[in-house]
Amino acid sequence: MVYYPEPIAKLIESFSKLPGIGQKSATRMAFHVIGMEDQDVNEFAANLLSAKRDLSFCSVCGNLTEADPCDICSDEGRDKSTILVVEESKDVLAMEKIREYRGLYHVLHGTISPMNGISPDEINVKSLITRLMDSSVQEVIIATNATSDGEATAMYLARMIKPAGIKVTRLARGLAVGSDIEYADEVTLSKAVENRMEI
Ligand SMILES: [Zn+2]
Repeated sequence: MVYYPEPIAKLIESFSKLPGIGQKSATRMAFHVIGMEDQDVNEFAANLLSAKRDLSFCSVCGNLTEADPCDICSDEGRDKSTILVVEESKDVLAMEKIREYRGLYHVLHGTISPMNGISPDEINVKSLITRLMDSSVQEVIIATNATSDGEATAMYLARMIKPAGIKVTRLARGLAVGSDIEYADEVTLSKAVENRMEI
């Protein structure tokens, strides 16, 4: 067991809290930071703080934003009759990259997971239902990932929404089972939207 001076031990601990970063990578990163220029380290620290301080979740759609409502919700040019439902804010970015979808979004911040005991109350579902009650939405496109939790969430949402007379569709199966929207290439993603199917 190697004992590092406390400041670096703490830095390693911080890095190791990031997703996919084990002890070894965290140690490498920590030593890399120590070797960085002061200016770069200051900027890095400032960026971390600013990302946390200056961003919040849009009170309408749940997307990460600096302004509330977010730029997409407050864009008069967007098609307000369609809401595309995604698991995470990064999925909104993936969809925006293909530049074809012009409707609105709703970010769930997770999925319903019977296996892990995550109920609909623990994700951003209630505000979606509220949104649908007092708006002119005609279609909800469910773009949760093609995982079992993503499917369970899609089925749950369809059951909740369809009785209101709103069309519910799901992205086409161009996306491989188990795959994440954020990693889909732009052609696949735009085909998946184009060939979406009613559920
Ligand atoms: Zn928004």
